[in-house]
Amino acid sequence: MAKPRYPYNPQSKMNGPYALTRDSVSRVVPSGKIGTYLLATCGKTMFGTDAVFIEYVGRCLDLRDRLLEHVPERYLLLYFKELATETSAYLSECEEYHRYGGTTCLDNEVHPGKPSIVSPRCPVCSQ
Ligand SMILES: [Zn+2]
Repeated sequence: MAKPRYPYNPQSKMNGPYALTRDSVSRVVPSGKIGTYLLATCGKTMFGTDAVFIEYVGRCLDLRDRLLEHVPERYLLLYFKELATETSAYLSECEEYHRYGGTTCLDNEVHPGKPSIVSPRCPVCSQ
């Protein structure tokens, strides 16, 4: 059965949506930058209006490299946000993971992992 999905929330404050294609990622996503990203598809809300639904949340040390690895996939759109450090990317990933419903509503199979044993706990669920 299809999972319930959340539409994009402007509180994520991400760049996008952009097409998840090789050309688009190469053009708009910076290389060598730490950050978080969302993968999404288009659909209709319960009221019949068009919306972008978030299906996967990730973080990485190189946004362009990682997003190119996701091409081609069934996701059509991406959002991304640059962050200064791996720890800030982890904390952002936790927020986005919970904002979009965690494993119940995302394709993510597990909670975001800490970058290191001394990383802070998840700011939302304290895991
Ligand atoms: Zn959490």
